[in-house]
Amino acid sequence: MCRHLAYLGTPIKLSELLFDPPNALVRQSWAPRDMRGGGTINADGFGVAWGTTRFRSAMPMWSDTALPQLAATTVSGVVLAAVRSATVGMPVTETASAPFQEGRWLFSHNGVVRGWPGSIAKLASRLPTTDLMTLDAPTDSAVLWALIRDRLRAGISLAAAVTEVVAEVEAAAPESRLNLLLTDGSQIVATTVGHSLSFCKRADAVLVSSEPLDDAPGWEPVPDRHLLVATPSEVTRTPLGRA
Ligand code: GLN
Repeated sequence: MCRHLAYLGTPIKLSELLFDPPNALVRQSWAPRDMRGGGTINADGFGVAWGTTRFRSAMPMWSDTALPQLAATTVSGVVLAAVRSATVGMPVTETASAPFQEGRWLFSHNGVVRGWPGSIAKLASRLPTTDLMTLDAPTDSAVLWALIRDRLRAGISLAAAVTEVVAEVEAAAPESRLNLLLTDGSQIVATTVGHSLSFCKRADAVLVSSEPLDDAPGWEPVPDRHLLVATPSEVTRTPLGRA
């Protein structure tokens, strides 16, 4: 499993998400509160994107000596970040770390596609060949991103793209864990299928995170099997259909 978060709203320092809070993302990399489905720490890489700029690594977030200063001096109103615990059999490389990106679209997956790669080979084979030849990494998450990106490129909404891909992948690969997180800079779309997720609405911002970053009031857990659509002014939660 992995841990991920997304923020939209009044620009803040990256360090206010990654380092400063008691349960900041860096802490979740070595002491996550809620690990399910195997793994104990998230040390197989990390990634942070703010706006259309992205920084990824195959190293643990806590070991990067440049990141604290970068995070303390970088301000953004659109952030998506993740720490990774590689699923057994999947490579530990920088390009396997979320966020996956195309322009302002940023994507992360917390979970696993059961029976990968065979279970979703048929779904993947419907993608343009060039997409398959240029996957970021040979991982389930990279294939999920390609399936979602294909829909976004066709003009399908973020929420519809994510919902369709969850339904399709669950049909092909039952028991998969599919906590997806996607933003285009104006909304955050997330699913809960098998892993934890919470959100916190602030005055001019919204924060969605695998785990609350602090014990302050305002954090709300998202029940399993839900679709969350969040903007700085509104958050909606809709149940996902049964697998
Ligand atoms: N299966 C994905 C990977 O290996 C995500 C792993 C996770 O959520 N721990 O990158």
